[in-house]
Amino acid sequence: MEEILNFIGGKFIPSSSGQRIDNLTPATGEVYSRIPRSEAVDVAMAVAAAESAQPAWAALSRVARSAWLERIAESLESRIEEIAMAESRDTGKPVSLALDVDGARSVNNFRFFGKILLERQQETYQMSNATNHVIDKPIGVVGLITPWNLPLYLLSWKIAPALAMGNTVVAKPSELTPMTAYLLCKILADVGLPAGVVNIVHGYGTECGAALVAHPKVGAISFTGGTDTGRAVAASAAPMFKKLSLELGGKNATIILEDADLDQAVAGAARAAFMNQGQVCLCGSRIFIADSIRQEFTQRFVEHVENMVVGDPSLEDTEFGSLVSHEHRDKVESYIELAKQEGGTILTGGAHPKLDSRLDSGSFLLPTIIDELAVDSRCSSEEIFGPVVTLHGFSSDDEVIGFANNTEYGLAGSVWTTDLGRGRAMAEAIESGMVWVNCWLHRDLRVPFGGTKNSGVGREGGQRSLAFYSEAMNICILDD
Ligand code: NDP
Repeated sequence: MEEILNFIGGKFIPSSSGQRIDNLTPATGEVYSRIPRSEAVDVAMAVAAAESAQPAWAALSRVARSAWLERIAESLESRIEEIAMAESRDTGKPVSLALDVDGARSVNNFRFFGKILLERQQETYQMSNATNHVIDKPIGVVGLITPWNLPLYLLSWKIAPALAMGNTVVAKPSELTPMTAYLLCKILADVGLPAGVVNIVHGYGTECGAALVAHPKVGAISFTGGTDTGRAVAASAAPMFKKLSLELGGKNATIILEDADLDQAVAGAARAAFMNQGQVCLCGSRIFIADSIRQEFTQRFVEHVENMVVGDPSLEDTEFGSLVSHEHRDKVESYIELAKQEGGTILTGGAHPKLDSRLDSGSFLLPTIIDELAVDSRCSSEEIFGPVVTLHGFSSDDEVIGFANNTEYGLAGSVWTTDLGRGRAMAEAIESGMVWVNCWLHRDLRVPFGGTKNSGVGREGGQRSLAFYSEAMNICILDD
């Protein structure tokens, strides 16, 4: 049984209370490690460590901080297979996905922010008799809270730009998926990152996460998670006027126009619906298909999904693994039951796969396609965050834009068409932070990432992340 520890002031320590929480591997249900159940007192220690490390970290030159980020990237890269296996074991995702997406992207996050830090331009504005110099100052200590679906990918997406701008951090990963955050701490200790620059406390969101958000010395909070939790985080942080970035839920539309290349659209829509067992905030969980191709698309889509290799996440050819927990699977299954009551037809899935008996206690659920539901049914409008997709027809561009926008969320979407001008126009009409045309999750780290409506507040990505993790200050100097 591995004991995961907090990383505070460069030391690996248990929670002050000594209490622990079991950590399971969702593919087998086996408890294989334990994490500290940290509370406000542990968070306070971590914030104090971050506070004392911050002035020296901020005093380093940009070149020096960039070099630290590259050193971390190299060390992560040298252990990428270990990281991928750990992520797969902790989350239930296929190891190939953990390697190609989570592992690769975590390395790239450190490397990318180290690089663009050096490209950051200082703004100056000349007046007739004075010059304005806009400078970036670190915020101080920043708090980072991350979910279970892309654990190290999202943690590194926040840690790297925060460190780049001279802040020190206290992070709280999801208690369901703590392992790669712990491995990252070991890497940080191995490379000799100064003590207190990164601190990680494990525990429940309502205890440890809430204490981090409420701590008066934490100047900014970057939170990725569900919309309801985001609301609680905002309510706690706003009265203290903390800087706040919220990346929340989504109910994203995949729109298949009648002129789409069907081979590309079928494969793309399946990937968008079921990557990471549908547990990606950007997943396209509502597919709108032009009436004239609905039958053909549906038949090919179902065939494609039924051919996916479902099973043991640790095997290289597995394409679809386990959900993160029994509790989460119960939630997803309750939506499948609801879909039946709402008049939906299950075209495929809706049941547990038959797998090796070793996986009997795993949280598996087949990829599920539901047809015949009303566009405004609960299943078609609430975030399920699992392997469930609903299909809907449409007869005109205006109609499908209305359908796509008829949701409280506004995170992402995709449009599939051979007419790129029409695709671009449709993308612009969709109320969301990002839309892909003929692709999905094709990420350039320089572009804005984030959502509108109940999908969040603010944008991260590229220079926007560097701006979020800093305070802009203007110095106006009257000419001689
Ligand atoms: P949650 O909102 O339940 O949890 C997110 C994090 O917040 C966890 O670390 C959690 O800890 C912590 N937390 C819970 N309650 C509080 C609180 N009161 N104060 C501070 N922190 C708290 O989300 P999930 O982990 O279930 O992740 C799934 C959700 O994340 C989905 O809605 C998904 O759409 C969204 N998401 C959004 C993304 C985006 O970029 N827009 C990307 C990825 C996911 P604990 O685990 O202990 O509860």
